[in-house]
Order: sequence, then structure tokens, then C-alpha cells
Amino acid sequence: MPAKRVTQRLAPFGETVFATWSRLAVEHDAINLGQGFPDFPAPDFVKEAAIAAIRDDENQYARSAGHPSLVTAVAESWQRETGIAIDPMEEVTVTCGSTEAIAAAILGLIEPGDEVVIFEPFYDSYLACISMAGGTPRIVTLHTPDFTFDEAELAAAFSDRTAMVIVNTPHNPTGRVFTRDELQAIADLAQLHDAVVLADEVYDALVLEGEHLPIATLDGMAERTITMRSLGKVFSVTGWKIGWSIAPSDLSAGMRAAHQFMTFCASTPLQVAAATCLTAGDEYFDAYRSEYLQRRDLLVAGLLEAGLRVSPPQGTYFALADHSSLALGDDVAFCRHLVERCAVVAIPPSSFYALSDEGRGLARFAFCKDVATLSEATRRLAGLRA
Ligand code: GLN
Repeated sequence: MPAKRVTQRLAPFGETVFATWSRLAVEHDAINLGQGFPDFPAPDFVKEAAIAAIRDDENQYARSAGHPSLVTAVAESWQRETGIAIDPMEEVTVTCGSTEAIAAAILGLIEPGDEVVIFEPFYDSYLACISMAGGTPRIVTLHTPDFTFDEAELAAAFSDRTAMVIVNTPHNPTGRVFTRDELQAIADLAQLHDAVVLADEVYDALVLEGEHLPIATLDGMAERTITMRSLGKVFSVTGWKIGWSIAPSDLSAGMRAAHQFMTFCASTPLQVAAATCLTAGDEYFDAYRSEYLQRRDLLVAGLLEAGLRVSPPQGTYFALADHSSLALGDDVAFCRHLVERCAVVAIPPSSFYALSDEGRGLARFAFCKDVATLSEATRRLAGLRA
């Protein structure tokens, strides 16, 4: 086989860990608690909305920045949540999932040599997109065991070349919800260095303890923040790949400049259906959260029972557990053992770290799964002690 041809900008990243471990799950006929996608059906009203949009002939390209019905629904829901009124046609951009929004924001706003501050562990696409843009990552570690950052380390990561800081709360993979003080410390530094904040808030509906605070709502922050949200997490349709960003028009311009040449627009019927989803009331979100609490508690109990150390995540549908007391090696060795001996897949998180080796003692488990799936998984995890 000829050697793989991949640019220097991308070669260091290899294959994304999600693809690798989802493939291993299939090969071992294992329960996949790796990549974060629900194994239960999407709600009927969500599916019906997509079917209706296709029947209504919403089947051609949409407006590049987003179907008018969806951007309007996003602006309304943002105002309900934050009290901030925005212009839907200028300040909302719909993308093929938030993964595209991350790429569009970085490629559209970062010049070669610009620095981007990110926290580790991070969602793996941040680093790859910074590299594609020719930017330089400046990394701040969320230290074990409580996954908080050191304010002095954060301040040291900023410089006169800082163009952007990426903040993900609720945080994948640690499950932390950043506090007001933490967000204020980040906001102060962003203002001091005149940096854009890319606020990855795709798990905003999945706050199981505490409260989600959009960083855009802090004083002086709306004008420098791009807030990303995702349909897939909230309505259990990750394969629809619909995400959107809210940003002032000067920042939306950069994102749109990149988005138009990457995908031009996201799927039209699914955007129309997404607009319907956003009209869901409190009842939907309350039930959604209470089901996730049950799933979280089931998984956490199973992990503790199996001998891992873990605190219940405050948000997201991931638990980051410490496997070191089982003495099965580093994160990759542990996850290999888990899939081969117990037929359960977890994600080894060392690829979410670039600076510290704290990921080696950890493994990420997703609990966006049926109670039956999680019960079977915990039964299999018990085999780790054997
Ligand atoms: N965000 C998802 C996760 O962390 C993965 C998305 C993807 O596979 N690109 O599991």
C-alpha cells in the first residue's frame, strides 16, 4: 500500500480517536460507551418535523448562513435564555454540526502566527483546526482530580499574540460546569488581550448539577464572543449534524467567509425541523435532564463498583474516570483491555491532552445510552475486578 499522503498540518493528528474506537466497538461486538451518540430513538416530534420538511419540498440548498426559520428560532430562544436581542440574519450562522462551526471560526478569524488559548483535556478538533489555520495553541491544563485550572497558568498562556480563547462548558470530557468566577477570570483576560472567545456550549441543556452560565452574558463579553450550540445533543440526533453560532456581525463575517467554502449550507430539511425542535417547552427539557440523571447515576455506580474512581459529572453525558488503581497500564492499554476482555468501549483521553500526561490514568465513558445498555455495560465492567 502506498504511504498515506497527508499535509504536515494534519499528519500529526492521525485518525480521530472517535473513529478508531467506534470501529473497535464494531469489531469486538462491544457496547460503545466511547463516541458520544445516543443509542435510543429520537423523540417522535423531532422525526416527524424532518419528514414534514422533506414532504414540504424543503429540499434545495438553504441560505448559506442558515434557513430563515431556524435563525429566527435561534434568536428567539437566545433572547428567552439570556435576555439579549440579536439580529437573526446577521448574528446567527448555521453549520454542519458545531464541529464545522469550530473550523469556520478558527479558519475565518485566525491568522498564521496568532495564538489560541485552549484548555486540556480538549475536544480533539480544536487543535487540528488551529493547526490547519497556521495558529499556535497555548494550552492550560484542567488538573486532576477536580479538573480546575490554575489562574496563574491561565494568565501565563495569554500574550500580545492571543487572538482567541476556546472555552467549553459544560466541559467534554471532564463533565465540569465552569463557575462564574472561572468564567470571569477568562473573560477578564480576553478583554485585557482583546481576544475573541469561542464558547463551546453544545452541552448547555445537559447541566445536571449547578447552572450553565453563557460567557457571552458577562459584562462586555457579547461583543467578543461566538457561542456555539448543537441540535444533536439536545434532541438525540447527532447524525443530523446541525449546529449554530451566535456572534456579533463582525465575527459572524469571518465564520461565514469560511463556512460558505467548506459546506455552503447545512441540510435544509433538517434546519427546518430544527426550528420546530426549538419550540419544545420546559416539559421536554425537564424530562430530558431527569432521564440523563438516572443514566449518569447508573453508570457512575457501575464504575465505582468496578473499582474505578470517579465523581458524578455536573454536566455533559460523559464521565471521566480514574482507572489507575486497577493497574492495567496507561489509558490506551486500559481501554484495550476493556474492549477485549469486557466488550465495552471507552475513550482513552490522552489524545485530548498536548501538555500534561494526566490523561494516562483516565478513561472517558459516555452515558447517552439506554438504561438497558448501561445496565449491561456495568455488569460487564464488573469483570474488570476478575
Ligand atoms: N463530540 C463527540 C464526542 O466527544 C464526538 C464527535 C465526533 O465524533 N466528531 O464523543
